[in-house]
Formats: sequence, C-alpha cells, structure tokens
Amino acid sequence: MAEAARVGQGSEAGLRALEERARRDLAMLEYPKREWVPPRTTRAGERVLDVLVVGGGQGGIATAFALRRERVENVLVVDALPAGREGPWRRFARMKTLRTPKHVLGPELGVPSLSVQAWYEAQHGEGSWSGFDFIERETWAAYLAWVRELLAIPVQNDTRVGAIRWDEDESCFVVPVTTHAAGRSVGTAGILRARKIVLATGIEGAGQWYVPPLIRDGLPKARWAHTCEPIDFAGLRGKRVAVLGAGASAFDNAAVALEHGAAKVDLYFRRPELVRVNVYRWAEFTGFLRHHADLPDAEKWRFVRRFWEAGQLPPRPTFERAARHEDFALHPGSPWQDVREVEREGETVLEVTTPKGTFHHDFVIVGTGFRTDLASRVELQAIEGHVARWEDRFEPPDGERVDELLRHPYLGSSFELTERAPGEAPWLRGIFCFSFGCLVSCGLGGASISGMKYGVDRLVGGITRQLYLEDAERHYAALDAYDVPDLEAV
Ligand SMILES: Cc1cc2nc3c(=O)[nH]c(=O)nc-3n(C[C@H](O)[C@H](O)[C@H](O)COP(=O)(O)OP(=O)(O)OC[C@H]3O[C@@H](n4cnc5c(N)ncnc54)[C@H](O)[C@@H]3O)c2cc1C
Repeated sequence: MAEAARVGQGSEAGLRALEERARRDLAMLEYPKREWVPPRTTRAGERVLDVLVVGGGQGGIATAFALRRERVENVLVVDALPAGREGPWRRFARMKTLRTPKHVLGPELGVPSLSVQAWYEAQHGEGSWSGFDFIERETWAAYLAWVRELLAIPVQNDTRVGAIRWDEDESCFVVPVTTHAAGRSVGTAGILRARKIVLATGIEGAGQWYVPPLIRDGLPKARWAHTCEPIDFAGLRGKRVAVLGAGASAFDNAAVALEHGAAKVDLYFRRPELVRVNVYRWAEFTGFLRHHADLPDAEKWRFVRRFWEAGQLPPRPTFERAARHEDFALHPGSPWQDVREVEREGETVLEVTTPKGTFHHDFVIVGTGFRTDLASRVELQAIEGHVARWEDRFEPPDGERVDELLRHPYLGSSFELTERAPGEAPWLRGIFCFSFGCLVSCGLGGASISGMKYGVDRLVGGITRQLYLEDAERHYAALDAYDVPDLEAV
C-alpha cells in the first residue's frame, strides 16, 4: 500500500490487520452478488460505461464505492489532477484541521472498518482517537488516499473532461477527455462514452471561484491572489496584506500570511459584524440531510435562503489562529468601493476605499469564494442551454430574491439535471450534479463531508433506478429465459 496512504509512525501491522478486516467485512456484506447492468457497446464496438464519475475527490470515490456495492461495476472515475492532489486538501486548503468535527462520517458508507477512526486507531493505537476533536487536513487527505487504494477504485488521473454531448443514435453521452502524461503540457485527446455521468467536480463544480471585477480588472495580477490559488506566503514577509471576505478560507489565509511574517493583515467584510452561528452544524441531522430534497419548492427555498442569510464563518480555531496576532485587524461593515494602485511616499501601493475610509496595502488575498454559473463549466458548455435553473422554475416571494441561489441547477430528487424546455433534452436526466450546486434542490449532498452519508445513497439510488428502468425490457427477457433448475427433474 503506497506510503501516501499512511500518516505518522503508526503500526504497519495494525493497518494491515485493519485492511484484512475491511476486506472480510465487505465480503460479508456482499449482497446481492450478481452484476446486473447489461453491458453496452456502440455499433462500432466501443465500450460504453454504465457510469462515468467526473472528479476523484471524496465525492467521486464514495460514489464509485457505492455503485460497486450495488454491483454496478462498469464505472470509471476521472480526475484532471495527478493522484493524491485531488480536491483542495493538498493544494489550496490552508486550515490546520477540517472544519467539520471528527464524528462526521465520510466515504466509509456504513462499514466501520473503513472509517477514518478505524484507520487512525489502526496506526496510532486504541484510544488515540479521543486525543482531538478535529481531524488534521493532511490526515484526511491521507485517509481518502487509503480508502481509494484499499477499494481499488478505478481512477484515471491527469484526465480532464471537456464538453459533454448526447449521441442520440447510440443513446449515450460522448465525453471528450484530454489526458496529460506527467509533466507534459500537451495532452492526448480521447473520447469516453457513458450512459450516466456524475459531476463530482467540487465545491465550485457548478460555477467558478469568484474574483470581484473591482480587483480582477482594477489591479495587476501580481498584486492579488484568490484563496484557491497558490500564494507565495514567504514573499509576503514584511508586507501589508488586505484580505477580502470573512469566511473560513479568508481567515486561514490571513493566519498563514501572519505566520510567514506579514507586517500587517487587515480583513474586510460587508456585514456589520462577524457571523458567529454556524447553521451548517444545525443541518447535521437525518431529517434535513436525508429529506431536504423531498420538500416542496417553496420550503426548499425558505430553508436554503435562511442558510444564505445566516452566512459563513471561520471555525473558532481558525478565527483564533489569526486573531492571536496583534498585527491582525478586522474591518466589519467595509465593502470595497474602490481599489487601485497609487504612488505614495515613493512607492506604488494599493489604495482600498471603503465607507469607513481609505487604507493602503501591498497585496490582496481574495477570499470571496465561488459563484454558481453553469455556463462557465467546460463539461456543460455544449448542453447548459438546456439545463433548468431555479430561476426558470421558481419565483421567490417578494423581497426574497437571491441571484446566486436562483442560478443553482433545478435538480430532480436524486441530483439529476432537468430540462429547461421539457422534451427538448430528456437525456439530461442522465447527468447528476454532485457539487455544491445541489444545495437548493437537494441540500448538503455533494461537495461536503456532512452531506455524504445520505447524499451518496440518494444519488446512487437515482442512478440504479434509471439503469434498471431503462433496461426493464432486457431484464424481463432475462427473467423469461431464466431456467436454472433448483430441483433435478424427477
Ligand atoms: C478549503 C476548503 C476546506 C473545506 N473544508 C471542509 C471541511 O472541513 N468539512 C466539510 O464537510 N467540507 C469542507 N469543504 C467542502 C468540501 O468537503 C470539499 O470541497 C471537498 O473537497 C468536496 O469533495 P468533492 O469530492 O465533492 O470535490 P473535490 O474534492 O474538490 O474533488 C473534485 C475533483 O474534480 C476534479 N475535476 C473538476 N472538474 C473536472 C473536469 N472537467 N475533468 C476532470 N476532473 C475534474 C478536480 O480536479 C477535483 O480533484 C472544504 C472546501 C474547501 C475548498
């Protein structure tokens, strides 16, 4: 088992024993045993996948595992990034620990020997789990790598999905991919075909990371970076850094800049005061996690709009990590009205104007998260015009309009895309949005650890339902032809 899947000097033997136990548990839980999806090829004999999963992060891995448990095996996971770099954990996540408490379950899907606790204790000993409340970020990344490897999930890394199309003749999706061999800039083009597609493309998977035009168009790129980008923190030593935004990533990056010797960090946000209540903690109960998707539209809207209103906040340890520095300052009620380069005391600095005054900095860290915009997703570029959004299906009550939420895809109850114009693109239901874009329609399903337990179950239930119903004729024919005797002729 690759070294990346292990953390610390924990007992090799302990982990081996756990892996043995996990294999035995899975074998014991293997029912039904029979693979059941009739294989498909094109007229030209090309393989058609039952399910293509785009994204090899925790969501994609858990989905592929759940499909396998339902004996849907003709599955491939692809990820644009190299193995071990999937998701934010080893790229731009800069928190020390996860934001969700350690008891929030993930991709183990109910198998205790696959849980992060079992994996941790196998290496660090019985009881070691009680020594902390939040899992370290690198530990989580290593755990995900272990699950993927132990379950031998078929992931094709360095493979980016392009604009998906529907092939009416072959009744399947045509998916262009570009595969990058390690270090090579020019990729190899290829085509995959699939009956169903899961877009487990990350928290920003229904849009893009967002940079306010004020900054994007107003400042040279060398003067700013979004929290999702690589940042040369050593280069910020002695600098005056401005952070825009008050979510967890904004505070993470403020703390890292201070820890690297930034002269001062000023964090600006619009609200009159910091959000102090995390409504996502409220959401961690069966009712909401399992059944938000079953609510009528007006209720779905009401709940999620309340989330939106409540806002995001840094977990306490993240807040304290930044606030303990005396060179850290908060600027509530300070939306940016302008930002530009100006000459001042013989140097070019950044001048930020807020309703509360003008401030000068050397570098900006943009902590403004992401925006939902299906048209900006390369995977959907050729088909997004057919995809219904909430704004196409729902008129919010007066005074309740939230453009960001109305841009969310209007999904079916198993995360499937729906048509803007019924009848124009019925095949859209074969694409499942398992990113944060599912929030209004299906709650916390895709792109959160909190929503994984019920989200993966609902998603995979929707996929197997479609596969079975679409092949009902073939299954009936198989039943009709079934003649395996249980009793010898007498
Ligand atoms: C900094 C940060 C911290 C977070 N902390 C927490 C936390 O503590 N607790 C919690 O519950 N949630 C947290 N989240 C939210 C969420 O759990 C994570 O975003 C998590 O990574 C989502 O998992 P995922 O598998 O859905 O997406 P990701 O892990 O982001 O994986 C998506 C993958 O899709 C691939 N991909 C995207 N587009 C394509 C394409 N066209 N072709 C091929 N591959 C593609 C990407 O390369 C990426 O590897 C955090 C999010 C961020 C950004």
